[in-house]
Amino acid sequence: MSPTAQQTSNRPLFVSTWPFGKAANDEALKVFESTGSLLDAIEKGIGVTESDASNSSVGLGGIPNSVGVVQLDASIMDGVGHRGGSVAALEGVRHPISVARRVMEKTPHVMLVGEGARQFAIKEGFEIVAPPAGAGNLKEVKAKTPADLEGHDTIAMIGLGPDGRVCGGCSTSGLGHKLPGRVGDSPILGGGLYVDQEVGAAGATGLGENVMRYCGSYQVVEFMRQGMTPEQACVETIKRIARMDPKGFDLAINFIAIDKQGRFGAAGTGSGFQYSVTHKGQSVVLRSPGLTSKDVGPVGGNRH
Ligand code: ASP
Repeated sequence: MSPTAQQTSNRPLFVSTWPFGKAANDEALKVFESTGSLLDAIEKGIGVTESDASNSSVGLGGIPNSVGVVQLDASIMDGVGHRGGSVAALEGVRHPISVARRVMEKTPHVMLVGEGARQFAIKEGFEIVAPPAGAGNLKEVKAKTPADLEGHDTIAMIGLGPDGRVCGGCSTSGLGHKLPGRVGDSPILGGGLYVDQEVGAAGATGLGENVMRYCGSYQVVEFMRQGMTPEQACVETIKRIARMDPKGFDLAINFIAIDKQGRFGAAGTGSGFQYSVTHKGQSVVLRSPGLTSKDVGPVGGNRH
């Protein structure tokens, strides 16, 4: 069946955010074919985007924060065992997704942040890259107006294996010019990524502040649990957030989702967004439905 039918019986299946997710998906498929490991596939696939120096929103090529430092967020989840790991505000590490996986597999914890995460990465032998000279002058810190913030686009990748295993990962440099220490939705399990072995998985990209306040990816998975298709679940999550949020539909949020039956889908605010779908013999970039005020109905509900 063609991916455009939003269902495929082909396994493994990889779905990720944005057109740049296609190269990541292709690598994930290759890795799966040689290792048989869905987690390896997700980690190495996302690693392709993190290594791409021309990508200004993922990895060390990302737009720096307001003091010139790139701070990276990443998370990974394995449906089997409901395991998760994440890192946030991590500096100078080439592959935050791999550090997130190491947190999941080698520590009793789920999330490490900032200097602690960096020291862990150093101790574990991950590739460290020195920051550019002059970066990090905290005297320069001042709150940015929303108009100063730019360049957000995360890779979230979710995958379904031939044995029904569901895994996902997420990696980003977050909002360009953000305040030092700002953490977005991507490393927050249930925010920018959520995996549930009984149901499926979801991931997010867009303005993290508008996702993490609503446990966005968790909500998508819960809607699928109630019987919605992945696309319906993404659409209904955006509608629900828009109905509650004072910003209404002007949220800049997007979701991807897969379920255990191999159905997949996505939705975004405005004109929607592009996402990538890959399985053996087919790797395509699709456009999600977009939602505006006319789709959402009355919005900005909880104003008081
Ligand atoms: N969600 C990411 C963040 O807010 C950025 C993005 O995906 O556009 O950090």
